[in-house]
Amino acid sequence: MTTRNICYHSISDTPDDPWSVPMEHFTWQIEWLKRHYPSNGVTLTFDDGFADFCDAWAHLRDAGKFPVIMFAVSDSQGAPAWWHSTTSHPTLSRQDLRDLARQGVEIGSHTATHPHLPQIDLDAAHEEITRSKAELEEITGAPVQSFAYPYGKVSPPIVKIVREAGFSRAYTVRSGPGQNSDPFMLQRIMVLRSDSKLLFVLKMLTGCGSWIDLLRRCAWRLR
Ligand SMILES: [Zn+2]
Repeated sequence: MTTRNICYHSISDTPDDPWSVPMEHFTWQIEWLKRHYPSNGVTLTFDDGFADFCDAWAHLRDAGKFPVIMFAVSDSQGAPAWWHSTTSHPTLSRQDLRDLARQGVEIGSHTATHPHLPQIDLDAAHEEITRSKAELEEITGAPVQSFAYPYGKVSPPIVKIVREAGFSRAYTVRSGPGQNSDPFMLQRIMVLRSDSKLLFVLKMLTGCGSWIDLLRRCAWRLR
């Protein structure tokens, strides 16, 4: 069966943030997904733990269909997202994370401080990954099983640390169908503020991440 892992960031109308998706676009996208995919055909993931997720969750909880994973940066807890270059959306508080976990949102780890993991030394990377897992488990009272690599940056030693830390799966930002065989290199389709309805639908139907990806695939088929 075709599966799609979808990657969102902020759900807000923030013109200077290309990764934000306005609520109006988001609700249209969710309704389209509900009409075209079974409940086990889509996983909705949200990176960075932005507080505006609470508005998105109010819609998703009522729509109630697809599994949802929120990837939180465990040191942020209510602070502005300092790692974002274009904007500083506030992040979910400790209490928000606890409440969301109780309401059925899976809380995943996105490290403690959102570093470029392959660029820091392995001891520091190990600390980022394991400390974040322990902290989020302490907050939610549940095992943290999913991980998302900050900036999608990953290397074989980082995968090894994530696996040995006790995670069951890890998500990249490489586009493609969601069911590739390595559970520590799961592909996602990133949705951006600039995506038209047409591009969103084409991304979902093909697993491509952009117009450029789509054109490359067409060119390859025509060879
Ligand atoms: Zn991130």
